[in-house]
Amino acid sequence: MADIHALLSEIVGDSNLFAGDSIHEDYTRDEALGVAPVRPAFLAKPASTDEVARIIAAANEHRVPVTARGSGTGLSGACVPQPDGILISFERMSRILEIDTENHIAVVEPGVTLEQLNAETAKHGLVYPVFPGEQSASLGGNVATNAGGMRAIKYGVTRHQVLGLTAVLGTGETITTGGKFVKSTSGYDLTQLIIGSEGTLAIATQAILKLYPRAPHAATLLAPFRSLDEITKAVPKIVTSGVDPMILEYIDFVAMAGILNNAGLDLGITDEIKQSALAYLVVVLEDRKPERLQEDIEEVGMLIDSLGALEIYSLSPTAGQQLIEAREKVFWSAKAAGVNDIIDLVVPRASISDYIQKVTAAAQESGSFLVGCGHVGDGNVHMSVIQADDAKRAELMETIFRLGTEMGGAVSGEHGIGTEKRRYFLAHTSPESLALQRRIKAAFDPAGILNPGVLFD
Ligand SMILES: Cc1cc2nc3c(=O)[nH]c(=O)nc-3n(C[C@H](O)[C@H](O)[C@H](O)COP(=O)(O)OP(=O)(O)OC[C@H]3O[C@@H](n4cnc5c(N)ncnc54)[C@H](O)[C@@H]3O)c2cc1C
Repeated sequence: MADIHALLSEIVGDSNLFAGDSIHEDYTRDEALGVAPVRPAFLAKPASTDEVARIIAAANEHRVPVTARGSGTGLSGACVPQPDGILISFERMSRILEIDTENHIAVVEPGVTLEQLNAETAKHGLVYPVFPGEQSASLGGNVATNAGGMRAIKYGVTRHQVLGLTAVLGTGETITTGGKFVKSTSGYDLTQLIIGSEGTLAIATQAILKLYPRAPHAATLLAPFRSLDEITKAVPKIVTSGVDPMILEYIDFVAMAGILNNAGLDLGITDEIKQSALAYLVVVLEDRKPERLQEDIEEVGMLIDSLGALEIYSLSPTAGQQLIEAREKVFWSAKAAGVNDIIDLVVPRASISDYIQKVTAAAQESGSFLVGCGHVGDGNVHMSVIQADDAKRAELMETIFRLGTEMGGAVSGEHGIGTEKRRYFLAHTSPESLALQRRIKAAFDPAGILNPGVLFD
């Protein structure tokens, strides 16, 4: 350990290297509920790809585990370090290197936050369209978790926006992948392998991102329904109508009550509607032209009305934005309310209603409670699990993931596996697929130093 301390100090300098108790508590955890904090042996803050590569080469030689950390907003325990390991944090690699307005590209270092990038792209009338609920998250973390968020129905998720990476492998070798182009058939797509790998294959030190023209006008419709089933049946019809919604969310009545209450929002929903509505659909559209937006909003309004909405609220731009912001904060209110776990399982979007009915019945049987909302356009179900008894909760969680994967779904739609969902990922992925994934891991990181314990045990 003395050797590695001296090497790290030589690479990043003493003022950017922390050890033992001098490492702030923030670096010991992410936002996953119930994750046990771990203080790493070292916290290093490199300033360049070269410094990252040298740290990893040294760690590889001394067989010391390395965990990358962005902003620590992850929900799966994936940036929690090892007690004998090095945590690499990217505060000193947080520059937007380029906004290329001709190619609609941003080149960023991993520590750049979504908030920072959004402010910069706005100056150019452009947007990076991935908006997961927490804007303090870093682009490095977004790449590693393949972050999604509410706008995925229109723009896709992080993997659809990353055109290239600079990344350091577990050996300390640096590779560059992709480039400022949207197509390439030139060997294996290493960019896509690294995206979503949760820091287990390589450490990203630069990313080339796709940008889009920023639509200046947006409108929000809120529609209460008698059942979630009606909402899931409405969704394909909205999608195939061609209006291209930017956001399609469902919020169940309990989550909606919490959202309105916590944000102090009054959207004019009457008590009568509140008593009859079991779920709410939120539709957000955007456009360059206000008159086109108005036409589309009217069309969606009529469609939703014909599909059984109890009422349709056309929200003012301010109220629409407040509702979306309050929805993004739902995790914090769930956490404050003491929920025991959260899931972000994904199923084919037509199966959401069936899935929720089945897991709700399983929860009732075990005396548990499920409450939630989700990206209904993507089949991504966000649910809080309320069951304080560990054994009962473990059994229910197993059922929740079994039912979802049996319906053709996957354990996580966007938060990732980390350590917290690892047992379900391992239980519900085929042995052949796991064996191949382990071989891929070994090719990128032969000594297994990159984020051990995440994805695999
Ligand atoms: C209130 C709230 C709402 C959220 N809403 C959403 C949502 O709607 N959609 C969604 O997808 N997520 C959501 N999240 C989860 C979280 O914001 C995302 O997972 C985000 O991508 C994590 O980014 P981060 O910078 O905080 O990463 P961290 O938590 O620091 O790390 C996450 C993972 O990335 C790895 N990593 C970090 N930097 C690098 C790097 N440079 N190279 C390689 N690996 C790296 C870490 O090792 C870890 O495996 C939400 C979180 C909160 C707290």
